[in-house]
Amino acid sequence: MIDKKRVIFEQIKADIVQNNICPDLAREATNLVMGDGNIDADIVFIGEAPGKKEDITGLPFMGAAGKFLNEMLATVKMDRSDVYITNIVKYRPPNNRDPKTSEKEAFWPYLVRQLEVIQPKVVVTLGRHSMEYFLPDQKIGDIHGKPSQIQFGSTKMIIVPLYHPAAALYNGGLRATLIEDFNKLSKIINIQKNKKENI
Ligand code: URA
Repeated sequence: MIDKKRVIFEQIKADIVQNNICPDLAREATNLVMGDGNIDADIVFIGEAPGKKEDITGLPFMGAAGKFLNEMLATVKMDRSDVYITNIVKYRPPNNRDPKTSEKEAFWPYLVRQLEVIQPKVVVTLGRHSMEYFLPDQKIGDIHGKPSQIQFGSTKMIIVPLYHPAAALYNGGLRATLIEDFNKLSKIINIQKNKKENI
């Protein structure tokens, strides 16, 4: 099953290249950053777009924000091999500017395909750029850390919106909120896991 999933993931990557998605970003990028972790995971984290380190390594969340994400995963006794981590936009925007709406829209169908393959129980959005696609017209300040169930294609998924770790790095208040939300997240994941095991 996992091998089949890997083949489909390779196809998704090939399709992004073949369909010439965001050629302006592709031209400047070193790597197409598809994701990292376990494609069989129950939980998927979705950030914004690769930065410099991610562009160089070809892996998401490798810089300071990624280090903070790893630390938070460790506090709930998880590491990157327990989850899958990706971004809505898969090429680095120049100078780390915010991804444009057109870029997010262009990559969205490929993120949907990734989620259809993984079939996670819980999707955690990191920051507003990925949140707005799952929970439109909401404000992160109102709903961070709160789980919502959505219908996603033929499956139901729990969405947990979190602040982006980069925003929390140098803001003590946000940092505390994010750590608090992460602890709630571990409870939500355990509830979902128990549900799955009891089926
Ligand atoms: N910020 C993101 O949103 N994604 C990354 O991969 C790195 C930093």
